[in-house]
Amino acid sequence: MLSERIVATDLAEGILQMSEPKALTVAVIGAGTVGSEVISLIQLQAEDLAIRIGAPLEIIGVGVKDPTKSRPQIDSNLITDDIYSLLEKKPDIVIELMGAIEPTRDYLLQAINNGSSVISANKALLAKDGATLHQAAEKADVDIYYEASVAGAIPLLRPLRESLVGDDVVKILGIVNGTTNYILTKMNDFGESFESALKSAQDLGYAEADPTADVMGHDAASKAAILAQLAFHTRVTVDDVHCEGIVEITQQDVKAAQQMGFVIKLLAVAEKVNQDSIVVRVHPAMIPISHPLASVRDAFNAVFVQAKAAGSLMFYGQGAGGAPTASAVMGDLVMVGRNRVSNRRGPGESVYADLNILPISESITSYYINLEVADQPGVLAEISNVFAKHSVSIQTVRQETRGKDASLIVKTHQAKESALEKVIAELKNLSAVKHLNGAMRVEGEEL
Ligand code: NAP
Repeated sequence: MLSERIVATDLAEGILQMSEPKALTVAVIGAGTVGSEVISLIQLQAEDLAIRIGAPLEIIGVGVKDPTKSRPQIDSNLITDDIYSLLEKKPDIVIELMGAIEPTRDYLLQAINNGSSVISANKALLAKDGATLHQAAEKADVDIYYEASVAGAIPLLRPLRESLVGDDVVKILGIVNGTTNYILTKMNDFGESFESALKSAQDLGYAEADPTADVMGHDAASKAAILAQLAFHTRVTVDDVHCEGIVEITQQDVKAAQQMGFVIKLLAVAEKVNQDSIVVRVHPAMIPISHPLASVRDAFNAVFVQAKAAGSLMFYGQGAGGAPTASAVMGDLVMVGRNRVSNRRGPGESVYADLNILPISESITSYYINLEVADQPGVLAEISNVFAKHSVSIQTVRQETRGKDASLIVKTHQAKESALEKVIAELKNLSAVKHLNGAMRVEGEEL
């Protein structure tokens, strides 16, 4: 920690004279999309940051993979690919913006064990093994902050960790992946297929050449785990999150949703199902167009939090990109810097609640089910019996005749996911049902 800032005492005058505060040393690992923005902001805003923190910042090294790359905005003397040697300089603060699980975990553990406070945007690592990092930080009495790991620029983790820490969060519904939200917006607003919307997301740089982590929901699942852990004060890892992507969404689903007054979004949902248990899930869902999340378009993110005393809160903004993500990192940098200057730590991990994490089959939701059926007497009754057998009540049914067949769109009331799964399995086996065109969970109706 920063020490010995009082350098002289003028006893004759009885006045304490303070020296210029000692600079806080900073190492940045990763100088790509986010890292390069962070380095620029540290340089551009040096004077203001020094006042806000109470000490100037001094970048003592920038760790990268390829030190031969041209990086005109960074002093070439700072660039290194020898990350362990950089960490051995024991900077006050290490900002990790390289991503991946290994060797990143090892770098961060070395930084923490050396007494450096750590800032990271690495959702994959924090959702996989945040526990190891937090425990090491606790032992070494240093900070670990990671606001940028979920929803880019949007202040979200600090509100959960601090502002809402006295309340009882009951549910989080979030659009936390900009790539999939962009794709679904194109499919909804312009009638595009999944493939063509993905292609335009790639052309615009919203989607990677390999879009698997986004479109399969893995990226959102890491973020859901981080949010759930903070909201419910219990350990949640990415392996606890039920995860489905958007690759099977068709224009037929999109149009059916529109006809019912809904829009399809990839949602991260974390909810308390009773006092002792939670379910954390990521999947596409229909939400009513009147829901605040329905108007979140393109690559924007938004998270809707319901807490017992606060009621409903919505956090909205840019969920990715160099500058927006750097903004969240800079917020952490000022917080961690202030803590170093005043020789204290921010709030540590809070996982005392030890809640059960239940499978998705235990969650309560409602469904839209789209069936191709024979247009003949008795079919509707046969189908209704399947719902009744599993105590799932039907809210609405819409039928459209197409020659000898009919399309039947059923919307259920809320029921246990396991009962809804049984209904769908049995409907598929009915002779009157020619094809299951689509089935999707419906969220956000309780507002
Ligand atoms: P990026 O553009 O790919 O940059 C990664 C940086 O890390 C590069 O400078 C790279 O070095 C360096 N690096 C990679 N492997 C390394 C290794 N083994 N040792 C040392 N340096 C290494 O990544 P990014 O988009 O900035 O993302 C950084 C982190 O922020 C990730 O955890 C990501 O999930 C998170 N994040 C990103 C965004 C976003 O919009 N981009 C949003 C939220 C969170 P070279 O330059 O030499 O290749």
